[in-house]
Amino acid sequence: MELGYWLGRGVDAFQEWARTYGAFAAHSATAVDEAACAVAFEELLARLRGSYPFFHPCYAGQMLKPPHPAAVAGYVAAMLVNSNNHALDGGPATSVMEEEVVEQLAEMAGFAVHLGHLTSSGTQANLEALFVARESRPGTGVAVSVEAHYTHARMCHLLGVPVHTVPVDDRGRMDVGELERLLATGVAGTVVATTGTTALGAVDPLHRIVPLARRYGARVHADAAYGGFFRLLQTSVAPETAHALRALAQCDSVAIDPHKHGLQPYGCGAVLFGDPDVARFFRHDSPYTYFTSRRPHLGEISLECSRSGAAAAALWLTLKLLPLTPDGLGAVLAAGRRAAVRWAGLIGASPYLDPYQPPELDIVTYHPAAPGSSPPRLSWIGTASHEVLHRGMNAKEDPVFLSVARVTAGAFTARRADAVVDSDTTHVLRSVLMKPESELYLERLHERVEHLAKASWPAPPRCGR
Ligand SMILES: *Cc1c(COP(=O)(O)O)cnc(C)c1O
Repeated sequence: MELGYWLGRGVDAFQEWARTYGAFAAHSATAVDEAACAVAFEELLARLRGSYPFFHPCYAGQMLKPPHPAAVAGYVAAMLVNSNNHALDGGPATSVMEEEVVEQLAEMAGFAVHLGHLTSSGTQANLEALFVARESRPGTGVAVSVEAHYTHARMCHLLGVPVHTVPVDDRGRMDVGELERLLATGVAGTVVATTGTTALGAVDPLHRIVPLARRYGARVHADAAYGGFFRLLQTSVAPETAHALRALAQCDSVAIDPHKHGLQPYGCGAVLFGDPDVARFFRHDSPYTYFTSRRPHLGEISLECSRSGAAAAALWLTLKLLPLTPDGLGAVLAAGRRAAVRWAGLIGASPYLDPYQPPELDIVTYHPAAPGSSPPRLSWIGTASHEVLHRGMNAKEDPVFLSVARVTAGAFTARRADAVVDSDTTHVLRSVLMKPESELYLERLHERVEHLAKASWPAPPRCGR
């Protein structure tokens, strides 16, 4: 897809449309000097070079990648109109696109009926779900696993809802036995399960959590901000993971971020509710915005007011071209998943690297292997992981960008019983392989990381003097 062409086409089409309303004079107040613009623009472009190369497969760090060209072209074409999806008055065309894409997301999640809308982020989507949870289960708290995204505790604090943390198993998934013990006390009216944790990509066993929560009358919210799109490829994940992904359909609410795995620029999350009747919790009146339609406006079912109509248009265009099917967007995720599985195999076979845990989705966690056959010391693992991270990103030639995740001594020894515990926490390396290009670049990436890990071994004693 030739981005330059489609960007130009969007600008031209906007100007053609604008002309149909007749000519009008531009005001001098917003006029800028072309020469000054050239200078400022060049400065901007130079400063943008201070970013990391998220677009390149040598960037195998955090959950970051550029949007698809279709999303960029769709966003720019719609941004020229700058519609506001809080109401049909502000975004008559893009609100309808939003309803269409939300319908597609709900279908992917397996919801037969739904109420939902796009949000500016996954955090906002989770906040709305937690708000509805508080309103439907007043006086109760929320259960989240210790691996849940940090914003749940923050949003619960904001809502005045107590948080109860549930331990995880040796793969970072919510411990269902511990959850049951908590639910039996009656303090938690809502369980937040994570479908793809941010650190490890672990999928909480929703298929076991949902029936358990039902027995205790608790709601279930799935934070599928990262992993929700993996529902498109249930056959290339472990059966246990596939069961959990299928159970998204039975949750009371789901948060899912098109700006994570949906190829969108930032500013695109989504929240879905299985019971359309929760609209009652959002009810409010606006003296000046809702006048063009008797249909509910998106602002009447969301906590945010102004929201980008362009975000809806960008997602709409992207899903026209890469629909939410195994062969559409699913093929994009499948490549990253294959890369993660294959890399875990290479890491397992390397004398210089050890796996931390097998990837459940497309996030690979690993660390430098201790020299020789000595058991890993936690302090050494943390130092060596940081060394690999820093030497990789600061390399003059062939840089490689990874990330680290902090893990507790308990979590580490749950995976490596022979580890020497000489500190309370350590760090392991973490690579989110969310770009399909990672699959084609994998051998090169592995070779670089292996080389960096080898360099963290102490130099062998020299012979002679
Ligand atoms: C990224 C993420 C969030 C937060 O979403 P934002 O869009 O960054 O606000 C919440 N939960 C999980 C599991 C995430 O991966």
